[in-house]
Amino acid sequence: MTALTLPGLRAMDAADALKAFRARFRLPEGLVYLDGNSLGALPAAAPGRLKAVIEDEWGRGLIRSWNAADWISAPRRAGAKIARLTGAGEDEVVAADSTSINVFKALSAALQINTGRTVLLSEAGNFPTDVYMMQGLSALSGGAAQTRLVEADKLMEALDDSVCALLLTHVHYKTGAMHDMAAVTKAAHDAGALVIWDLSHSAGALPVELNACGADFAVGCGYKYLNGGPGAPAFIFAAKRHQHVFPALSGWLGHAAPFDFRDDYQPAPGIDRFQCGTPGVLGMAALETGLDLMLEADMAAIRAKSQALGDAFITLVEQECAAHGFTLASPRAADRRGSQVSFRHPEGYAIMQALIARGVIGDFRAPDILRFGFAPLYNRFEDVWDAAANLKAVMDGREWDAPQFRARAAVT
Ligand SMILES: *Cc1c(COP(=O)(O)O)cnc(C)c1O
Repeated sequence: MTALTLPGLRAMDAADALKAFRARFRLPEGLVYLDGNSLGALPAAAPGRLKAVIEDEWGRGLIRSWNAADWISAPRRAGAKIARLTGAGEDEVVAADSTSINVFKALSAALQINTGRTVLLSEAGNFPTDVYMMQGLSALSGGAAQTRLVEADKLMEALDDSVCALLLTHVHYKTGAMHDMAAVTKAAHDAGALVIWDLSHSAGALPVELNACGADFAVGCGYKYLNGGPGAPAFIFAAKRHQHVFPALSGWLGHAAPFDFRDDYQPAPGIDRFQCGTPGVLGMAALETGLDLMLEADMAAIRAKSQALGDAFITLVEQECAAHGFTLASPRAADRRGSQVSFRHPEGYAIMQALIARGVIGDFRAPDILRFGFAPLYNRFEDVWDAAANLKAVMDGREWDAPQFRARAAVT
């Protein structure tokens, strides 16, 4: 490969089929934002939409807006949009609660469906909340359900006849390594286990085909690549064949007739039973704005650009920072990677802080991972150049070696 140059990368931006989307976001001038995998950027339409929801629907419409502005359907409306991005049926996804809560809903449903099997299996080093929710459910069951964690390369052999459900994050939050959804789902089904996919780092970042892969359940975040805003509602997918369970989180909005106010819980038919309580309407409005924007883009183009951005970043960091001790933590092959590139470095935390001080925002995951997310709707090839050039400056000048960059903040 010939060395990448700034003019060459600018030419790639000029030829980019998605380039018009950047102007649909509000990004601070001069900032290189490579953290859309943690918090997506602000869609330009969101402030106006939220102002209308607040002033017109809430301020003037008040309680009438549950019907007049159809607030009550927001979880299903947003869910149907997410379904289009994830290869699901429109009646198989609902936007609700947080990813953590939805993990609980999916696991508890799996325990009901796959009776007689008691092990909840996941990958060691999975995103902590997924594992913590498994452990909580084990405790709630009085130990009847057990949590089992194995290394990624031991998952297939761990699929014995005790495994009720396999819960995996499709794209690993630290390394960006991507599981083969079709192959893993098939292997789990062959072993009699259900599969729950956490799509937190997949939805909106790459093509996902839940039904083509035969997935049982899926969950994911609204505030990452879906650009739904801080703490946006999450989502849950339940394949049609699994929508008969009695939800463990049997809140009134999952009831067949919530406004009948009956004493007995009668689950709503279909995916509605995976709702629990009253949705956060402002969060739903912001999420829908992000989803509408993303649905205008071609997912194949998003994936192609994401891979090219990641490849360019790896090449540039290895070209510019060869002497500085970075190790690639992500798969080198773009088709095995999600939409992020991670490098390990023992001084990773301080290096990332120094980089942020220069206006290049990525993030850090303990103990030593520098994480750079690429959101193809607003990131440019020029951003990749700027990020690598600033990283080189941070390293060449030992800028990271300063007390203000070593002090750990609450959120990294
Ligand atoms: C970001 C993330 C979550 C976050 O869960 P919340 O309930 O929204 O805090 C869960 N799982 C994975 C894999 C994530 O990357």
